[in-house]
Amino acid sequence: MTGSQGAWPRRCDTPTGGVARAPRGRGSGCSGGGRGLGAVITPTGGVARAPRGRGSGCSGGGRGPAAGELEGRGLAGGPAPGVRAALATAAAEVGSRLEAAGVSVGAMACGGPVTGCAARRPLHSARAPDVASASNFRAFELLHLHLTLRVEFGPPGPGPGSRGLGGTAALELRCLGPEGAAELHLDSHPCLEVTAAALRRERPGSGEPSEEPVPFHTRPFAHYGQALSVAFPQPCRPGERFQLLLTYRVGEGPGVCWLTPEQTAGKKKPFVYTQGQAVLNRAFFPCFDTPAVKSKYSALIEVPEGFTAVMSATTWEKRGPNQFFFQMCQPIPSYLVALAVGDLVSAEVGPRSRVWAEPCLIEAAKDEYNGVIEEFLATGEKLFGPYVWGRYDLLFMPPSFPFGGMENPCLTFVTPCLLAGDRSLADVIIHEISHSWFGNLVTNANWGEFWLNEGFTMYAQRRISTILFGAAYTCLEAATGRALLRQHMDITGEDHPLNKLRVKIEPGVDPDDTYNETPYEKGFCFVSYLAHLVGDQDKFDNFLKAYVNEFKFQSILADDFLEFYLEYFPELKKKRVDSIPGFEFDRWLNTPGWPPYLPDLSPGDSLMKPAEELAQLWTAENLDLGAIAAVDISTWKTYQLVYFLDKILQKSPLPPGNVKQMGETYPKISNARNAELRLRWSQIVIKNDHQADFKKVQDFLKSQGKQKYTLPLYHAMMSGSEAARLLAKETFSTTAPQLHSNVVNYVRQIMESKS
Ligand SMILES: [Zn+2]
Repeated sequence: MTGSQGAWPRRCDTPTGGVARAPRGRGSGCSGGGRGLGAVITPTGGVARAPRGRGSGCSGGGRGPAAGELEGRGLAGGPAPGVRAALATAAAEVGSRLEAAGVSVGAMACGGPVTGCAARRPLHSARAPDVASASNFRAFELLHLHLTLRVEFGPPGPGPGSRGLGGTAALELRCLGPEGAAELHLDSHPCLEVTAAALRRERPGSGEPSEEPVPFHTRPFAHYGQALSVAFPQPCRPGERFQLLLTYRVGEGPGVCWLTPEQTAGKKKPFVYTQGQAVLNRAFFPCFDTPAVKSKYSALIEVPEGFTAVMSATTWEKRGPNQFFFQMCQPIPSYLVALAVGDLVSAEVGPRSRVWAEPCLIEAAKDEYNGVIEEFLATGEKLFGPYVWGRYDLLFMPPSFPFGGMENPCLTFVTPCLLAGDRSLADVIIHEISHSWFGNLVTNANWGEFWLNEGFTMYAQRRISTILFGAAYTCLEAATGRALLRQHMDITGEDHPLNKLRVKIEPGVDPDDTYNETPYEKGFCFVSYLAHLVGDQDKFDNFLKAYVNEFKFQSILADDFLEFYLEYFPELKKKRVDSIPGFEFDRWLNTPGWPPYLPDLSPGDSLMKPAEELAQLWTAENLDLGAIAAVDISTWKTYQLVYFLDKILQKSPLPPGNVKQMGETYPKISNARNAELRLRWSQIVIKNDHQADFKKVQDFLKSQGKQKYTLPLYHAMMSGSEAARLLAKETFSTTAPQLHSNVVNYVRQIMESKS
């Protein structure tokens, strides 16, 4: 139970003592928040019916009043007395559950001293809009989030016994607007059935907080989410702290991914996981779903017998037979709150790291990563400063996981494709570890500035890789990245608006739909260019450390970063490096096209040249098999083979028969287990219409659902021969149920646009 005012955490309770967002200008500058909502609800203004006829579908697991009951009444003046009683019961239930869990939300203690409020620079990001959020996040400060959820497996809903997450989200907030606030808008989603809302606030003159049910309603916002609006019975006072308790349930939806036993590696038990980036967590819990807002969180998760829950949290604690308690002790944006529940076991692989996986994968996971993660972490710390997140664990996901990795703090979610058996794909782990500084600690303030997360992370990944594996190997890997950027720009055209670093995301556009290689590889080129201007690697490394320290736990725009860069290097500022013709910072950010500067990858020549020469040999009408046999590829590392295959793909189609011969000559490639090799081989097979190996393409697509592999292959198949198009249709009809819903949509779009 939260006690008196004194029990609330102080404003300055981030580990840095930092103020995440400057308070000025709030309340008016929020272009993203509350569009079209303000005029409709008055402070006492009742509960409007949700627009999508959701009044009937709420099973809610028997907890709390049904949505239909609430929404059907009290259109003026708040809920009817019976509903009030039900809401009060629900609110009390939430409170007692929190107490039972030992959670006093206001007094959440993750340890660590409360430091003084150091003055921090005013940020451009403090007033930046986020058109992807329906919330009025600038009007409030989110101090803490607590989730109390019960996981139920069953058939897809709706209906009794269907699978779902149900419980409460408790948001601890402070009102920032100088005028106070009459309502609060959160991001939500039609799949989220909110059945009750209650406020816990202090009454003036009374030390005890009181709880009261409050009316709420939803409003359409975009196809990827809706607004959930709560009206305060009495306006919220400036500076007032309060808790909002929302009782809800979510079954099927884009934020919570349910897998049947057949869709898991072990095929015995179901599995559920959440994926928040970019705007999917509004379909997991009501929130300020913008990377501009950060807070700590805690969660109490109840699971069925025989299941284990894990989260992106500092602590993992088993409470009783089927309950798990988590605390994230650092402020993070909503998209990094992540949960997975399944048949999971773990194994130690380092002093602060363990791997989590289904039992049938745990030995492979342990073998692949035992003893290697600590080296990556320690190198990152040397370069970029302390690793602030405590643990670094890896969760190996079921095969349908659409990403290579998702950098959920403390617990990266990764594709099982990384279990290559030869530690050859560790660069993905280095990438995710690099997000511990770039993305998770310093975060893009909106999704139009995604390059701040990914471009810096690519640069950081390659710095770590250079130190651990050498310049030749790293430049080779970077060359494969550059090839991906080339491919992407060839497909879209260089002038495509997505080929700017700063993307203008229009209202209504799902930020995920803007996802492409540009923020990664063009972003890498820009950071490399800034290092090139400095001209000294050590100095630039020190700058990156200072940059992280300057903006840690905050969300920023490119303007904040570039201003800091020019301040840090006054000699460059004096030289006006921001406006060198052809390389203007503004051009980097706001003009689409190929990067004006490309870092020198010639240290990779020793590995690239032989691969290029060998690729050239394979383009001949009459193959020189003697010269080909003289090149020994048995010692080549994965990325050298990848580079070779990329060259083959560029030169494809090859003369008839050459690909068949190549497959027979290099079973190491044509029968590879390694996913990067399987992707390239599949692309070559399709581009050359080598139908004898179509089955391998299909097997690869059935074995995993990673977006980066799946979409290019469907593109290739649908652009290929009649047989290749048939292969695409056949494959998709069997794999669609095991793919992530976003990936299904993208594949459908590819198939529709090309049929
Ligand atoms: Zn990344």
